[in-house]
Amino acid sequence: MKCKNTLMSDEIALHRKLFGRASREYMCLDCQAEYLRVSRERLENLIDMYHRTGICTLFAKKD
Ligand SMILES: [Zn+2]
Repeated sequence: MKCKNTLMSDEIALHRKLFGRASREYMCLDCQAEYLRVSRERLENLIDMYHRTGICTLFAKKD
């Protein structure tokens, strides 16, 4: 599942959110979407939602 894509902090945060904080290896958004069998857009929306609500401390809240 691992690929050579450079990971954004949001992708790492989402991975920790979805797969657990103990994860040592992270997947990029495309790989996470493929693994979860959802669209990449859906994960992007999820990241956006976490940013907007600020409910998850893994994601910095955007103003
Ligand atoms: Zn990947």
